[in-house]
Amino acid sequence: MNNRTSRIFTRLFISLLCLLTITGSVRPNTVEKIRSQGEIVVTTRNSPTTYFEDNIGATGYEFELAKAFADYLGVNLVIKQADNLSDLYKDIERNDAAFAAAGLTITQDKNKWVRFSTPYMQVSQQVIYRRGGMRPKQVFDLAKGQLVVTSDSSHALQLRELQGRKIPELTWSESPDFETVELLQMVATGEVDFTVVDSNEFEMLQAYYPNLAIAFDLTGAQPLAWAFPQSRDDSLFQAAESFFRNAQTNGLLSEVRERFYGHLDQLNYVGAKRFQKQTAKKLNKYDDLFQHAADEHNLDWRLLAAMSYQESHWNPRAKSFTGVRGMMMLTRRTAKELGVRNRLDPKQSIDGGAAYLVKLRKRLPKNIQEPDRTWMALAAYNVGYGHLTDARKLTKKDGGDNSRWMDVKDYLPLLSQKRYYKQTKHGYARGSEPVTYVQNIRRYFDVLVWNDNPDMELALENESLQLSADIRVIPPLL
Ligand code: GLU
Repeated sequence: MNNRTSRIFTRLFISLLCLLTITGSVRPNTVEKIRSQGEIVVTTRNSPTTYFEDNIGATGYEFELAKAFADYLGVNLVIKQADNLSDLYKDIERNDAAFAAAGLTITQDKNKWVRFSTPYMQVSQQVIYRRGGMRPKQVFDLAKGQLVVTSDSSHALQLRELQGRKIPELTWSESPDFETVELLQMVATGEVDFTVVDSNEFEMLQAYYPNLAIAFDLTGAQPLAWAFPQSRDDSLFQAAESFFRNAQTNGLLSEVRERFYGHLDQLNYVGAKRFQKQTAKKLNKYDDLFQHAADEHNLDWRLLAAMSYQESHWNPRAKSFTGVRGMMMLTRRTAKELGVRNRLDPKQSIDGGAAYLVKLRKRLPKNIQEPDRTWMALAAYNVGYGHLTDARKLTKKDGGDNSRWMDVKDYLPLLSQKRYYKQTKHGYARGSEPVTYVQNIRRYFDVLVWNDNPDMELALENESLQLSADIRVIPPLL
């Protein structure tokens, strides 16, 4: 090569390099693209543990986390609802969504082609059976009954592994169309014997199916995480990682957890069964009154109904030894203040109770946000505004956040211990009562909201769900 040609080559090479650097630097990465579009599309399932509509709008554990992440990126959240797990993974594969937030278990199988974030929860897989039906004691018993799970789920994967490793005679049915609610419904109505769901799902849904119980844990703790596409550009993945790091330290993760799971252990089998019975027997007698009072005071009627169940089990003549009476258990003094003449009249009692709750809620400092505002107003309804304020002061003194129910509920019970109540203005109180009170009401409220959900009604109406055409029976390996 003579000098001239080598100069030409060098120039060419330099221009090519410049071109590459320029084009390379103008191509935006995923996060930049999302920011310039102003929105992020997240795929999820419509279920009580992930995403659903309540009286205020879209909510659910995954929705709230994804919303916080969208805020963190400074963009709007767009939810894409996948019909089933298989479609959800397809959304990721085809880049139809930026990531999936849907209670997904990290499994080796899925790990090959999606990228899982830092886990945000640990769950175990649980075998669920119907009380009074066949109760499996160990994995081998699963082969003795009819078992259904969702296709493409971690549960189906676990069964496949068991079949291969331990129980070749195991058979089960699976369909992509079975959501957890449907699986539980099938076991509850006796259509099938067992199913497998995640522990957080059963925890949340058990109150709707009091005749279902856990037979045993099929797995140890397994992590749930968000699933991202595997791509060379990992800007979004890294943004999510730093979001989760922040969420750990700033308390967001525990706050969302408390909001959806914090009150779940309240309703045991007996309580849930009784609530279900009373709802069927009594609620329609009073729901007009609850609706009316709710409209009047801009409240959710199901909150009033839940409160009244907690107060009196919907008994208009209820009476306690402390002298409180009626559907909403008003004291004589409060009734007088509110202009309630007859506490035993259900309408007057419900209207009075609603007015009193709203009054307490208004009185709380402005920095307390919903839903904590309502939970604290309920606590004040039960224990008195003064005691609630005392507990809030103790919370603050100890470095807690007194605008959060999650923190205050830990301090209320201390009001019954001398070394704490002697520091307060209003003194001794049975502080654990309002905590149980609020948590019970939240639980009853959840159940009423879910009963009102059109999908749920459908499930309950069709006593036995028709097995869909898409169902696959997995034969034994023998
Ligand atoms: N954790 C399950 C999975 O990753 C999804 C939950 C369910 O289908 O119930 O497959």
